[in-house]
Amino acid sequence: MNKLVILVVEDDPPIRNLMTTTLKAHDYHYLTAPTGEAAILEASSHNPDVIFLDLGLPDMDGIEVIKRIRTWSNLPIIVISARSEDTDKIDALDAGADDYLTKPFSVEELLARLRVTQRRLAAAQSEIPVQSVFTDGKLRVDYAAGCAYLGENELHLTPIEYKLLCLLSKNVGKVLTHTFITQKIWGSSWDNDIASLRVFMATLRKKIESEPDSPQYIQTHIGVGYRMLKVE
Ligand code: CA
Repeated sequence: MNKLVILVVEDDPPIRNLMTTTLKAHDYHYLTAPTGEAAILEASSHNPDVIFLDLGLPDMDGIEVIKRIRTWSNLPIIVISARSEDTDKIDALDAGADDYLTKPFSVEELLARLRVTQRRLAAAQSEIPVQSVFTDGKLRVDYAAGCAYLGENELHLTPIEYKLLCLLSKNVGKVLTHTFITQKIWGSSWDNDIASLRVFMATLRKKIESEPDSPQYIQTHIGVGYRMLKVE
């Protein structure tokens, strides 16, 4: 099941070696690229399943690599950032990255990110291209009918809560930034929209999560945004 091809884009040899050794030990195939140009070439010529992309590359900013790859491909890109500032992650996510890892990261974190991506790829392949119903554990969103259910029970959502749930479910597995979400919901992203988002997220969670304090469907990425997870 692990036979995914992972493109590792990293200019720092010790980190690159740690990553490739880990991938090899867990039965993944991999390619490597030490620069942005090499990454774009590998991505276009070998069609990998997932890219791990360092943001600080010698020849170009990783954000530029994301933008270039996104002109022709939607393949999952997991950004690796040495910079602890949230703005880099947010810029990368807004440019089209799916997820991020912050250096220094553990081998377990690297593998966990891959498993999330793998579940998402598997879910995308098993579903009909234009899906009208989203199912995730007990949660079901019927886009065509405009209703959502938890088990047998229809959820009573406000229009904003429903819009939020649709946006998150249509991007399941992907970290969505506060800016992205508020732009989609309100068409703007002022500070008070982000504050409103927190409020609507809290009320939505109360309706869909059995334990809103330890959510299983919607993950919080502090300072960055939210992600809907595919639960087993
Ligand atoms: Ca680097």
